[in-house]
Amino acid sequence: MKITSSSTVSELLYWSYANLAMAEKAVHDRDQKYSRLHFMIRARLLSGLTKGTMSPRSLMLDQRIRMKLPQECVYCGSVDHLAIDHIVPTNRGGADTGDNAIWACRRCNSSKSDRDLFAWWSTYRQDFPPLFVVRIYLKQAIEYFASRGLLDTPISEVQENPFSLATIPKTFPPPESLSFSPFHARKESKKDQQDETGQPPLAALSATSPVAPTSLPVLTPAPASGGASS
Ligand SMILES: [Zn+2]
Repeated sequence: MKITSSSTVSELLYWSYANLAMAEKAVHDRDQKYSRLHFMIRARLLSGLTKGTMSPRSLMLDQRIRMKLPQECVYCGSVDHLAIDHIVPTNRGGADTGDNAIWACRRCNSSKSDRDLFAWWSTYRQDFPPLFVVRIYLKQAIEYFASRGLLDTPISEVQENPFSLATIPKTFPPPESLSFSPFHARKESKKDQQDETGQPPLAALSATSPVAPTSLPVLTPAPASGGASS
């Protein structure tokens, strides 16, 4: 799908959100590349969002995931001088709610300041922001424009708003270079080290055991099929 300035806000946001769901699924499954299954997930979610038969999963689910994450910077995983940061800065019009508030270390906090997430990140780091942070950002953007009846507005005609539509990702990097959160990234790299030191990798375990391993990450991807969720 090609997003241009004549595309509507919903075309941009739904496309990005569908790509996010695809990426989350691939990262969750520890796939190195996107497969047909992932493209199918993206296509179904995009179609469901566009037709209104699906909606982004509730922020409640994100709160539950958040409670399972350790108290550390959502951007880099540091625990140095943590303070509350708003992913969408409140002085740009971001919501002053728990949905928008996260922990950030002093370094990330002062570097980001009141800049837009994606505009800031591209000047700060080489990699892609943690998918959990991207998810919170996109859901708030969808909510913001939906509640104002602006989803069908062409991007070029959108007035000032708390989001930077120009920097919202239209493509996501391969899953091998993504992580859900700094916490999940550390867990994965520990697993990889174990694999190298002779511990059986996860795939081998599940092949020899009739019961699937129970220590898979807690991440639940956005709905890939059937039915709407609130
Ligand atoms: Zn940080």
